[in-house]
Amino acid sequence: RSGDALEAMWHGVILLNDRGEVIEANGAASVLLGLARSEVAGNPIVDLLGSEELNASVDAVIKGTTARSVATIKRDLGGRVSVLRASIRRVRRDDTASAMLVLEDVTQQHIAEQARTAFVTQATHELRNPLTSIRLHVEEAIDLGDEDPAARANALQVIQQESRRLERVVADMLSASEIEAGALTLRRSEVQLKQMVDDLQADFTAQANAKDIELVFDLPPKYPRAFADRDKLVLAIHNVIGNAVKYTEAGGRVTARFDADDYELRVEVTDTGIGISTEDQARVFDRFFRAADERVGREVGSGLGLALTKEIVELHGGEIELLSEVGAGSTFRISVPITPDGSVRQAA
Ligand code: ADP
Repeated sequence: RSGDALEAMWHGVILLNDRGEVIEANGAASVLLGLARSEVAGNPIVDLLGSEELNASVDAVIKGTTARSVATIKRDLGGRVSVLRASIRRVRRDDTASAMLVLEDVTQQHIAEQARTAFVTQATHELRNPLTSIRLHVEEAIDLGDEDPAARANALQVIQQESRRLERVVADMLSASEIEAGALTLRRSEVQLKQMVDDLQADFTAQANAKDIELVFDLPPKYPRAFADRDKLVLAIHNVIGNAVKYTEAGGRVTARFDADDYELRVEVTDTGIGISTEDQARVFDRFFRAADERVGREVGSGLGLALTKEIVELHGGEIELLSEVGAGSTFRISVPITPDGSVRQAA
């Protein structure tokens, strides 16, 4: 019987009569639709799917306007959105079936595709801004010549800062693709912590000022010798401070507290920003996750930053922790071993 063959199929298969009602559907179809089998059989497909695009396609195929058609359907299965691809084709048989629908779950492809698009958009944006700024300031420096050494020095300083930003964006992208390939590795060497922290502070001062955010760096009196993968560590901390500035509105405050002993570096970044709901706190470290808050949507981002930060911290043998309350602000705490071999302090 054809029914047995249908049951054995991976794909969801639904047969429709010429009124668009379900004659037969296999188990995979009801699973993909998130409906009980009894809810599927005998009902108009239009009622089951509630998708304008699909309704039009099914109609066209049944009427014979077109022999086959493809539609994409989004379904909310109890909070989890799934994306299905439906191919509809005409069937000519003596019995009542007049169209066949084949359903395929393409949720993963859909997520990956969206992420890629978002990534390319962000990459373009983040590369173009510093490049434009560099070009303008180079032109300015050339025009100024020896006339105004102070203005020229200023232009050169902007160029230096923007070049650093470019380096970081590129590093971020490379790391993101390394993560993607599961190939992120560490190259540990001695890190000048003071220099690193000073650079971070310089990176964010202008941005915070421009947004009217009070940026406080709370620094230890002295730093121990430290070993880590400098570039990746900078990236990890950079993402967290960057987020704090990004997701805090004008008039707010961001505090970055650094503290270190011979064994570990601790960084605590606190903001008075929009905060993260308890539900989202479990997901902010997921790749491509961005909260569904319009204040998040307004900011440029790919949702990769914190995933990268967590990966880097954990590769170092460290930990990252988050405390947050919606409307009150967030605190991200990072601790990273800085011994030459990454070993942690032994309990006494
Ligand atoms: P991106 O900033 O590119 O969106 P991240 O991975 O850095 O991606 O962060 C993921 C999400 O976590 C953000 O989109 C935002 O919803 C939330 N988030 C991160 N940091 C903060 C913060 N300091 N305050 C509020 N929300 C934050």
